[in-house]
Amino acid sequence: MTYLPESEERVALRESVAAFAAKYGRDYFAECARTGRKTEEMWLEAGKLGFIGVNLPEEYGGGGAGMYELAIVMEEIAAAGTGLLMLVVSPAICGNVIARFGTDEQKQAWLPGLADGTKTMAFGITEPDAGSNSHQITTTARRDGSDWILNGRKVFISGVDQADAVLIVGRTEDAKTGKLKPALFIVPTDAENFEYKQIEMELLNPEKQFQLFLDDVRLPAEALVGSEDAALSQLFAGLNPERIMAAASAVGMARYALGKGVEYVSDRTVWKVPIGAHQAIAHPFAQGKIQLEMAKLMMQKAASLYDAGDDWGAAEPANMAKYAAAEAAVAIVDHAVHSLGGNGLTTEYGLAPLLSLARIARVAPVSKEMILNFVSQTSLGLPKSY
Ligand SMILES: Cc1cc2nc3c(=O)[nH]c(=O)nc-3n(C[C@H](O)[C@H](O)[C@H](O)COP(=O)(O)OP(=O)(O)OC[C@H]3O[C@@H](n4cnc5c(N)ncnc54)[C@H](O)[C@@H]3O)c2cc1C
Repeated sequence: MTYLPESEERVALRESVAAFAAKYGRDYFAECARTGRKTEEMWLEAGKLGFIGVNLPEEYGGGGAGMYELAIVMEEIAAAGTGLLMLVVSPAICGNVIARFGTDEQKQAWLPGLADGTKTMAFGITEPDAGSNSHQITTTARRDGSDWILNGRKVFISGVDQADAVLIVGRTEDAKTGKLKPALFIVPTDAENFEYKQIEMELLNPEKQFQLFLDDVRLPAEALVGSEDAALSQLFAGLNPERIMAAASAVGMARYALGKGVEYVSDRTVWKVPIGAHQAIAHPFAQGKIQLEMAKLMMQKAASLYDAGDDWGAAEPANMAKYAAAEAAVAIVDHAVHSLGGNGLTTEYGLAPLLSLARIARVAPVSKEMILNFVSQTSLGLPKSY
């Protein structure tokens, strides 16, 4: 398996995404977040340029590449300070799951729109009483003739207000308890008895989080994606890409903060030399740079394994990359804010909001501790405490 050096096509993709994202930039993103405006024009342009659907099959309007390329798109967009969260969800989780397990009709109905950005799909697995423990989800689907009736609650679901549908992870009545056998349903956001309510978050981000209420939502048989008790394999088709994209987003944000911090300390002089000459300021940036490059390498390993069809092999590096990228982003953002002194907290310099945004990667889509649990049990074979 080779994933380095990057091919000319990948370098060209990186450069064109970076040039595209630079046109928008952090100020545009922050302004959208402050005024409640959506980043629709950026999203649609990214779709038109083929960035959003780069991983989706060509026959359904995608770019025919893989998660490696979509991670490049995510990383470069985040490195411009415009980390579109819905990239993690719509093409990476939902697009991959539909492309791999959907029927021809589902692919026709969704993939071209998900690829060019004219359709967006959110993803809902988290529940109020089953956060880190997805085995405890209670959103239930029961059959009524050929229809499905869904009931349940979801929480922290991103971008529902800008989505055409949500890919809901539930379980069928027959598999109501015990080990999770997920059943995935495409639920249109305008379905009857489907409601959503925005959660007020202390995050300066245009993409919002929502609580979902499903009370006897009636869906046709074809709303089910794949088999009704596909065990975890179908879900993994979406969850590994989710972790790879969360890593790419954190790597991009870390690059953005590192760039801003280094630029500032290279210039700011309060004694005889720029403050960046002092090792107390320089070394944490150097450490951050090492952490972020290692995280990126692990992310590229995970994406390469996923693209080679090795879902199980991708799971360990995808989790490790997400963990390492989140820790790098949190540390770099913290040190960048600190190194700007008072300016680190000003609106003008725009770094302070990243203090909370970087922490998203630590808790979502899977928390730091749950990754440590995964590595303890799966990689090291240690017993489980829960
Ligand atoms: C900005 C944002 C966007 C999100 N978007 C989505 C989305 O689009 N779709 C979606 O489905 N979800 C989404 N989520 C939800 C996210 O995946 C969950 O918040 C996350 O999985 C943690 O669940 P929880 O919040 O219920 O925390 P809890 O499960 O309550 O955990 C709280 C703390 O306890 C720790 N903990 C729990 N169990 C253990 C254990 N066994 N060992 C050690 N420590 C443990 C956790 O690590 C964590 O630090 C989003 C969250 C955020 C913040």
